[in-house]
Amino acid sequence: MSIEKFSVEKVLSVQRWASNLFSFTMTRPAHFKFTAGQFARIGLKVGDDLVVRAYSVVSSPFDETLEFFSIVVPNGAFTSNLQHLKVGDELYLEKISYGFLTLARYQLPLPQDLWLLATGTGLAPFLSMLQDFATWQNYQQIHLVYSVRTVSELAYVDRIQEIAASFGEGHTGFKFVPVITRDPNAVLHERLPVLIENGELEKAVGYSLNPATSHVMLCGNPQMVEDTKEALKRRGLTMNRRSEGNIAVENYW
Ligand code: NAP
Repeated sequence: MSIEKFSVEKVLSVQRWASNLFSFTMTRPAHFKFTAGQFARIGLKVGDDLVVRAYSVVSSPFDETLEFFSIVVPNGAFTSNLQHLKVGDELYLEKISYGFLTLARYQLPLPQDLWLLATGTGLAPFLSMLQDFATWQNYQQIHLVYSVRTVSELAYVDRIQEIAASFGEGHTGFKFVPVITRDPNAVLHERLPVLIENGELEKAVGYSLNPATSHVMLCGNPQMVEDTKEALKRRGLTMNRRSEGNIAVENYW
């Protein structure tokens, strides 16, 4: 790993959501450009080694700082160290951004209804998209669906409302739908593919998935991505390839 590919940045804030979940912000160098939905590669010095992991950017492409959302992977070389992050600590940031989970990849169908389906920290790229005015201008309907195991893992809820109120001011088609899979009393508590199959997701947002209009993005647990993709295909939706089609995905680990 060539260190010249990285700049050294400083941690500006750390927010803890649950024992295994936290977010942090860091300085953004002028050269670091990204599109909402892309990821950065962040390096951490562990002894003499630079350990590097991919992290979707949470913040808006227009922000002066960079925000990331992380889980603590038990015994993981990176996150077990990262979880002790403090304001002022140094992190390495690769100078270029990566990834194709961006709204620019959709040409057909034309933008109308956008479905952002996340599990866990897979929420991150969608928060960035929602902090881009173009998203609100281009889509009449925006459905953000966020599946976690327990309510204590439901991070960013207040921020989502704030983002919708500021970036989506006057927009009437936004729905935020939390799914709490290990709480049988939650309004929605089944896994995303089941909620698609049994029609409960569409009922909750009051809108139907439609191969002629829907853009559906999936991010998070790789098995969720796989199973949900198949459930959507059974509804006639197609993978987005060469700019055409409904479904775009990103596995998170
Ligand atoms: P998770 O187990 O991915 O669960 C989050 C949500 O996804 C839950 O609502 C869960 O439902 C749901 N889910 C899981 N499998 C699904 C499937 N096949 N279809 C539909 N929904 C599904 O939890 P997490 O906290 O985000 O991550 C758990 C583990 O993943 C971590 O301990 C870590 O090891 C690993 N991880 C690694 C990285 C990394 O960068 N290396 C990043 C994130 C996570 P249920 O409650 O029904 O399971």
